[in-house]
Amino acid sequence: MSIQVSNISKRYGAQLALDNVSFTISPGEIVGLLGPNGAGKSTMMKIITCFIPPTSGDVSVYGFDIREQSLEVRKKVGYLPENNPLYTDMYIKEYLEFMAGIHQLGKRTAKRVDEIMEMTGLNPERRKKIGALSKGYRQRVGLAQALIHDPDVLILDEPTSGLDPNQLVDIRNLIIEIGKQKTVMLSTHIMQEVEAMCSRAIIINHGKIVADDSTGQLLKHNEETDQVKVEFDKEVSAALLKAVQGVIDVKRISGNIWLIEAGREHDVRQDIFRFAVDNHLAVLSMQKQNTRLEDVFQQLTKK
Ligand code: ADP
Ligand code: MG
Repeated sequence: MSIQVSNISKRYGAQLALDNVSFTISPGEIVGLLGPNGAGKSTMMKIITCFIPPTSGDVSVYGFDIREQSLEVRKKVGYLPENNPLYTDMYIKEYLEFMAGIHQLGKRTAKRVDEIMEMTGLNPERRKKIGALSKGYRQRVGLAQALIHDPDVLILDEPTSGLDPNQLVDIRNLIIEIGKQKTVMLSTHIMQEVEAMCSRAIIINHGKIVADDSTGQLLKHNEETDQVKVEFDKEVSAALLKAVQGVIDVKRISGNIWLIEAGREHDVRQDIFRFAVDNHLAVLSMQKQNTRLEDVFQQLTKK
């Protein structure tokens, strides 16, 4: 196992930020730690990277215990903290050399800094101070420092937050590329991030795991009902629509456009069509909605 988290709880004073969390991550996985703000994502990551101790429970990284063998754990793990704190007065290279020093790379420093600047696409901006870089390039610097000592595991706390759409795509691709060689755990509160980069999602809410599965399986769990979006030409009452055979729930999206949830036993679209004819309504459009991971996330974390 790359990362083994067993029964981790973390208290900040009276507040329970993590409540008996357990999971394991295998080498080579790219796992998304997904949850709304305040769910406990950063807390989990700080514990795995030995920045704060848990209140109870155990974590091991490649068999090294975070309490007993924290130096070994730090060698194995590269960490991009939330908000990516950087020394804005330093030049990129200077900063990476400084980080290499912390990891005691010694004579290997110059070669490694060159390698990592190439890998993270920093060369075009190599003459700038970190403070003069765009947010996208700062994230590259953050990734570069996390990778400098060639760790097997990368822990990335909201690596794409605050990026514009182009930067976002670049950083995502970079993470996917890096992920081919490493075990990666990244946190986000955005479902699409997980769909774009991860093979598996661990969803946490209020410090508890509410789902842990491959992204494909997470979608299947939600497929007990069909959602059909339909537009009528005239006003319809919710009560009438709800009375249609097979319909479980209805929601007005706007005007005469409705989202209808129905059981899977048969195709509800035929019944809606018959209902429209019987009530002298015209169906202007009707589509079955694809289940999105976004909906799964909302269902699991709405409490
Ligand atoms: P996330 O990263 O998912 O947004 P965090 O792990 O940062 O969540 O926080 C989880 C909960 O713990 C939040 O309610 C937060 O307010 C609380 N918390 C985090 N850090 C501290 C701290 N140093 N002191 C007190 N409470 C904290
Ligand atoms: Mg956080």
